[in-house]
Amino acid sequence: MNILLFGPPGAGKGTQSAMLVEKKGMAHISTGDLFRSAIKNETSLGLEAKKYMDKGDLVPDSVTVGMVEEELVRQNGKDIILDGFPRTVPQAEALNVLLDKYEMKIDNAFFLEVPNELLMKRLTGRRMTADGKHVYHLEFNPPKTPGVCDITGEPLIQRKDDQEDVIANRLKAYEESTRPLKDFYKEQGNLRVIDGTGEPKDVFERIVDYL
Ligand code: ADP
Ligand code: AMP
Repeated sequence: MNILLFGPPGAGKGTQSAMLVEKKGMAHISTGDLFRSAIKNETSLGLEAKKYMDKGDLVPDSVTVGMVEEELVRQNGKDIILDGFPRTVPQAEALNVLLDKYEMKIDNAFFLEVPNELLMKRLTGRRMTADGKHVYHLEFNPPKTPGVCDITGEPLIQRKDDQEDVIANRLKAYEESTRPLKDFYKEQGNLRVIDGTGEPKDVFERIVDYL
């Protein structure tokens, strides 16, 4: 079973992905994490992506789709969660081409719905491990020891693009480019709208009901 998670920044995609990895053993493909890892390793892909990410703009589709194809091949048939990809209708169309090519399908396209007024608070309070695998919130999901990951003991960081002015631009990019995916997946028949409010474990239950 392959799924994708989409929704506005701060909807809880990373948080739910971590729970799906832990409890269902799925492989997590987050384009945001892949770009941040490329930036850290100073690859040419990372240098290109950084120009857009620092401002809260979307990285061009051609760059993003190529990276996802490599990752799909690397996962070699494991059940996957696509997190934060696709983010535009052309990316969703390109994904369909890739799925055909590798004889795969997306069983559920989960749209995490969270009211706008909650998103800014979720994003400004977000703290995570450098690889993005463990996500916390200063108020809603604090670690047991401030600034330290409960699971790995690593220090927690704040993402550079989790600043109010950059967040505002990311929300704008979402409205313009990503929200239309709701209609795309509705037409395809695999859209599942999930209420993304309440405790993370409650949101998780709503997702698991479909799996
Ligand atoms: P996304 O990957 O969609 O951008 P995250 O999973 O990183 O979102 O969540 C954004 C922030 O909101 C994080 O600080 C996370 O701890 C917090 N968060 C996630 N889910 C919930 C929830 N159900 N209730 C409250 N806060 C949440
Ligand atoms: P995320 O970690 O999902 O919040 O993504 C962080 C940033 O990475 C976004 O603001 C974009 O600049 C970039 N990004 C991640 N996924 C994509 C994508 N599918 N298409 C374009 N840009 C992306």
